[in-house]
Amino acid sequence: MTMRIFAASLGTETNTFSPIPTSYANFEASFAYGPGEHPDAPKHTTAPLYVARRRAERDGFTLIEGSCFWAEPSGTCVKADYEMMRDRILGEIEAALPVDGVLFGLHGAMVAEGYDDCEGDLIARARELLGRKPVIGCEYDLHCHLTAKRVANADVTILYKEYPHTDFLERGEELVTLVLRTIKGEIRPVSSLYDLRLISFYPTMVEPMRSIVEKMSALEKSEPGVLSISFGHGFQHADVPDLGSRMLVVTDGRKTDGDRLARELSEEVIAKLELLTPKLLSQAEALQKALARNDGATVIADTSDNAGGGAASDNTDFIRLLLDKGVKDAAVGPLWDPIAVRFCFAMGKGARLELRFGGKSGPDSGTPIDAEVEVIGLCRDSLQSFGAAKTKLGDCAAIRVGGVDVVLNSHRNQALGRELFTNLGIDPAQKRVVIVKSANHFRDAFGPIAAQVLYADGNGNVPINCRSHAFAKVMRPLWPLDERPQGRFVL
Ligand SMILES: [Zn+2]
Repeated sequence: MTMRIFAASLGTETNTFSPIPTSYANFEASFAYGPGEHPDAPKHTTAPLYVARRRAERDGFTLIEGSCFWAEPSGTCVKADYEMMRDRILGEIEAALPVDGVLFGLHGAMVAEGYDDCEGDLIARARELLGRKPVIGCEYDLHCHLTAKRVANADVTILYKEYPHTDFLERGEELVTLVLRTIKGEIRPVSSLYDLRLISFYPTMVEPMRSIVEKMSALEKSEPGVLSISFGHGFQHADVPDLGSRMLVVTDGRKTDGDRLARELSEEVIAKLELLTPKLLSQAEALQKALARNDGATVIADTSDNAGGGAASDNTDFIRLLLDKGVKDAAVGPLWDPIAVRFCFAMGKGARLELRFGGKSGPDSGTPIDAEVEVIGLCRDSLQSFGAAKTKLGDCAAIRVGGVDVVLNSHRNQALGRELFTNLGIDPAQKRVVIVKSANHFRDAFGPIAAQVLYADGNGNVPINCRSHAFAKVMRPLWPLDERPQGRFVL
């Protein structure tokens, strides 16, 4: 009998403080593929299905494809819509039985009305359907809430190691390999999960995280019985009990060794906490630093208005600052304003018009800008690269106001690839100041063209320092909301 493996995907990153409601329409706007409809191109959350499709023949298994849903990060999901997607996937599993394994591609920070742990709920229900024997393997974004429920009900849990998430396909390959080995009885995965009782920001292209990630990868090769090591950074813009950073070690039946390693690696992160805590500049300080030099583009991240964390991405503060200072040779993007995009398309490239743009979604968006602008570029269905994946920006319009070029997008997304600008005829490398709405993912594409990269704070609703959120459900004490408590084992 050939092995039978089912794969499906459900993902979004819920910012419970976001002004943007999430319903099934948000998933349809990003993607909602029925069984077999996933395109032949990689996407982050669906990596397990994509990888399994390519490996089925070589590794001798039959793949049964289920549905795949993704919505850009935004607010708490409507209960009925979450339940509909969950039940669709569970129904597909039931129809596929008997199966030897189930692969889930998940983000891991989805919250719906009445469900603080959507992924834990989905996996527990899948386990109930499947019984003990079939192997469940899950891949997550590292910005997830690694709850006991979801890890305990799965056999193998693997997270991306890199932030920016450039390694989603490699981790998907590892997941498929470990699930197949478990089905064949070659290994018996056991999870050790340590809760650091803190939350921070961990970009992995720079120290101190670079060395920690490399150490995790090296230990997977050198430590006997270690199958996989993941560090869950956590997602700080969600009011859920399990918010926080957690270290997960999966071993081949060596629980004691796994526990020791999870604790040691956690202590290494804790020892570097001071270095990890981001030193953010104010927007004015960042701009001053940019204007102080003349040797190429300064890329400034407008971190708190990052659509990738659930912000509206239509805060106008930075644009106002550039206009007030009379800065020339600046570019800003993406600013989410589907209405303004429509107006620009109606007028056409080269047109000049009085336009109101930005500042619409809520109090964290600032106020709209009213100005005479020139439409300098238009692009239908613009796409940008994010590592090996392409992500949507929707119809985009570039406007020039004073010395500032602004890219307006209609599908809310963060700055990931340089096509965000180049699709509209703007070369960010030739600008003096480039403001990107993103916390860190921009760095993979924009780092190489930057003379310097700066991180600025702002009034958007995803502050990297989460202390300003009104948390009620989060388990306390948790650093930096409280004095730093001792860590503890979850599993
Ligand atoms: Zn992430």
